[in-house]
Amino acid sequence: MRVSRLMLVTLRDVPADAEIASHQLLLRGGYIRRVGSGIYAYLPLMWKVLRKISAIVQEEMDATGALETLLPQLQPSELWERSGRWQGYTAGEGIMFHLEDRQGREVGLGPTHEEVVTSLAGELLRSYRQLPVTLYQIQNKFRDEIRPRFGLMRGREFIMKDAYSFHADEDDLRRCYGEMDRAYRRIFERCGLQAVAVEADSGAIGGAASQEFMVTAEAGEDLILTSEDGSYAANLEKAVSIANPATPLPEGEVKVIDTPGQDSIDALCNSQDLEPSQVVKVLALLARMESGAQQPVLVCLRGDQELNDVKLVNAISALQNDGVLDVTPVSVEQVANQGLSPWPFGALGPDLDDASLEGAKSWTTSFLRFADPTAKELDRFVCGANSPNQHRWGSRWSDLSCDPQVVDLRNAQAGERCQKDPTQTLMARRGIEVGHIFQLGRKYSQAMEASFTTAEGGQEAFWMGCYGIGVSRLAQAAVEQHHDQAGICWPLAIAPFAVVIVVANMQDETQLQLGEQLYDTLRAEGVDVLLDDRSERAGVKFKDADLIGIPWRLVVGRDAANGQVELVERATREAQVLPTDEALASLREAISTTTSPTVV
Ligand code: ATP
Ligand code: MG
Repeated sequence: MRVSRLMLVTLRDVPADAEIASHQLLLRGGYIRRVGSGIYAYLPLMWKVLRKISAIVQEEMDATGALETLLPQLQPSELWERSGRWQGYTAGEGIMFHLEDRQGREVGLGPTHEEVVTSLAGELLRSYRQLPVTLYQIQNKFRDEIRPRFGLMRGREFIMKDAYSFHADEDDLRRCYGEMDRAYRRIFERCGLQAVAVEADSGAIGGAASQEFMVTAEAGEDLILTSEDGSYAANLEKAVSIANPATPLPEGEVKVIDTPGQDSIDALCNSQDLEPSQVVKVLALLARMESGAQQPVLVCLRGDQELNDVKLVNAISALQNDGVLDVTPVSVEQVANQGLSPWPFGALGPDLDDASLEGAKSWTTSFLRFADPTAKELDRFVCGANSPNQHRWGSRWSDLSCDPQVVDLRNAQAGERCQKDPTQTLMARRGIEVGHIFQLGRKYSQAMEASFTTAEGGQEAFWMGCYGIGVSRLAQAAVEQHHDQAGICWPLAIAPFAVVIVVANMQDETQLQLGEQLYDTLRAEGVDVLLDDRSERAGVKFKDADLIGIPWRLVVGRDAANGQVELVERATREAQVLPTDEALASLREAISTTTSPTVV
């Protein structure tokens, strides 16, 4: 490809709306253009990168025996009604774009394909003899993200590889999950990415294993906790730890203390000379359920601990056997709007009476009560007295007439000890989630009545797994991990071109001829080569070459007269002036070591 024919428009300035380096560089390098919020055009250079990544993904998926397919993006609401997910995906913070067709039937734009694929499997896979089967596809997904940002990292239309497997039993699902785990590691390694596998939240289904693959980078939206030796790694959503011990409260009788204006843990501790770990804080929240219920929730945490929203949502939905649309803190106004007497916010105790909910307009009239183990384990503590500006000092759980469910609901933190190996301390790192593998079990197959005939002649629901890779996010994550001040440094396997030939002076006949000759030679050998044949100043071309980040550069300049060219490695900037033949030989050797699939 010739740069003069590439429609290449590079930008000198950093685009105002791009916050992180990879987003800036992809815009500046002419890889992507923003079309709307979370909507991007992949320009020809980017499309080459995406095709290379897709080809690696395809090779590794095919190697596991998975079958490539292409499923519809337009999905009838009935399928989602059958799985019970229509409501959750369209109401509240639901992320599915949905619309009515001309006949007034509702359809959604696929954010994911469990429904479509499970219904197909139910129709096509009748016997255990046909199992196992894994289907995969690479296509655009649509998600009306609450906060689309960082370019391709969180788009509203993006490219995903999604795979779904069907099994006769759980053991076979586990085998396939293990195989996918290995395939994913190979994919990320071949793409030149450093990715860590972390334990991930499995949602409310419980029990089923799930693992995310994170590209570690400061710009990552996810927080992960790892032990020093790396033997434990988990997304914060899921991570557990041994909390640091609480400071015991001094001896003394139970008493009520006046705490005017001390309605935060900090204010209370400062005024009363307490440690946060001596306090039980009580959070009042409202859970909106898929069934329509509005369920008030009281959560007791040790004062020095933070609530983990994901753990809470899982606990609520497990206890209620109902999906959670969202959970938000209860406000003074909401209490008033329900027609209730004011609650003593800032002095709530674990035993706040259900009478506080009596006569509520739309809320359920009893609390769901939870306590994190670190709160429940406290022998004596300070907590709200359920009357404004008053707390109780020296309370014991046995003195309080409430019996909260004890569930791990706190965020694990860096610096705490690892549960799996208490000699290890946890460290925090940021990561970009590029893949997720998941043992779904029989959640969808049971809900959608997708079953097969067993060897014994019975009917059983499929065991299922699902496996996603964010192909477009991965491409940008690669830039986040591989760039410098001057631009992108693509890993060879996913670079749009392996080598760029820069002819320094297009007016110089010798340079021009040698450049063209090198271009023809490399193309004839099947090398993915770009020729910068623009009549720009050499400096401009070098800057652009740095910016777009082609791994190898052959500079045809003044030395062309002596049959010499300069070979430069983009990532290290190592440069050698060599006779043309030697330069070609070095280049061939450097680019042959890659495991890049052939994409033209
Ligand atoms: P996240 O937690 O980042 O929102 P998710 O858990 O919803 O992602 P999955 O449903 O597991 O994502 O989708 C599979 C993969 O698709 C993710 O691992 C991620 O790499 C990618 N992905 C998900 N949402 C987006 C998005 N909005 N833009 C780009 N890639 C995405
Ligand atoms: Mg995920």
